[in-house]
Amino acid sequence: MQYLPVFLDLKTGPVLLIGAGELVRAKLRVLLAAGARIRWFATDGDFDLAGLRDDHGQIERADGDPLNADLTGVIAVLCAGAGDIGVAMSARARSVGLPVNVMDDLAHSSFIFPAIVDRGDVVVAIGTGGSSPVVARRVRERIEALLPARIGELASFIGDFRKTINPLISEMPLRRRFWERIVDGPIGALVLAGRKQEAEAALHGIGDPAAYAGADQAGRSEGHVTLVGAGPGDPDLLTIKALRALQDADVVYYDELVTSEILDRIRRDASRVPVGRRVGKPGIGQDAVNKLLIGAAREGKRAVRLKGGDSYVFGRGGEEVDALRKAGVSYTIVPGITAGLGAAAQFEVPLTFRSKALRITFLTAHKERDAEAVDWSALTDAKMTIVVYMGMTAAPAVRAGLLAAGRSPQTPVGVFAKVTRPDAQAAVGTLDQLPDLVARIDGGPAILIIGDVVAHSAPWHQQNLSRVIEQLLEPV
Ligand code: SAH
Repeated sequence: MQYLPVFLDLKTGPVLLIGAGELVRAKLRVLLAAGARIRWFATDGDFDLAGLRDDHGQIERADGDPLNADLTGVIAVLCAGAGDIGVAMSARARSVGLPVNVMDDLAHSSFIFPAIVDRGDVVVAIGTGGSSPVVARRVRERIEALLPARIGELASFIGDFRKTINPLISEMPLRRRFWERIVDGPIGALVLAGRKQEAEAALHGIGDPAAYAGADQAGRSEGHVTLVGAGPGDPDLLTIKALRALQDADVVYYDELVTSEILDRIRRDASRVPVGRRVGKPGIGQDAVNKLLIGAAREGKRAVRLKGGDSYVFGRGGEEVDALRKAGVSYTIVPGITAGLGAAAQFEVPLTFRSKALRITFLTAHKERDAEAVDWSALTDAKMTIVVYMGMTAAPAVRAGLLAAGRSPQTPVGVFAKVTRPDAQAAVGTLDQLPDLVARIDGGPAILIIGDVVAHSAPWHQQNLSRVIEQLLEPV
């Protein structure tokens, strides 16, 4: 992000606008709609509004050279269709610290115009750092389609009542929940349906706003823990429920596997607490995590425990839920896409396949000694796909165990790393080659998939294709 979207209060002073023709009229249209006072220097003396209406007398037509204009009190300078004057005007504005925009000239602008969705009190600004107005317009179209037509009315409805209701709810998190219930519930629906009077009556009918917001007997907010599976990395793989939990959270405790793109989806004002292992540093330990979750809930917070993949697949979700139950804390679980499924989808490994693969086993072999603890004799069925979590270091032991149990050394296997992330990687071959395949991977996290289905994967096909081409090209 190179440009921070901020909202300028146009009531605080005039905007200097320099230029003429259609380009300037486009800017006039935006500024008039936003209620700006505009001091306009028409470069060619042509003050034609061509149908634009200045009903509230916002435009002051200025003459003389804009380069000598008095800048006292001016809040921003805009050049549209002003030709060479733009560059000189930009230098002047910058010398006195005024924000300046020269149309289509990033080098001489200190701010740029976003694409705007204008629904009264609700205004959405969309920027692409000046790189592609077309992309910005497409995003705008999508947002336009997404937002209810009366969303601005809903915002102003809440604005009208905030002053009277907020003092009746002492705790900040409860206030937020109260307004969330209004926005998401029947009262919000009434406003969005254009039935404002009924909405007002319903709002006045709420006897105890704190209780409506979910306060307990003592007037305190009730805490809650949500275990959220973040999926294997791609933020677009978050479920809608996961996204909602992240947006509603007061505090998020997250693991090292959670990518920064996913952390970006957390509500800006929520606290974020890393609790996982990080490079060179151990995690805080499961007991400490449990205590944090329980503590946050008891303080009335909405806590999210965010983990890679799914909480219930090698994610210690079971232990956390045990602790929450024991402590009598309310909780919910939002599933996530586990790494094995992410790998399967990205690299096209069908985990089951008609008559070839009838069972799937998910297992973990973190260290050599974990691998030794696995009962490999239960995994000899050639029609079983085996998905190994945390199996990089233990790869030689996994191979030894499966071979000793009688699985063919020719069984197809794949090592899939950083799946669904931009730097995902795959290495495929046979069980015999497993440790070499692991060595080809630049770093984890990585998952192993073992079974005939790997021969259906995209990297396997690609590898075979390259081999055929190589053979064709070999000199005879
Ligand atoms: N709860 C997680 C698993 C945690 S165990 C889930 O459901 O996915 C950690 C192991 O998961 C890693 O050692 C690796 O084997 C696997 N893993 C997690 N994210 C991964 C990713 N993006 N790509 C490949 N493997 C991943």
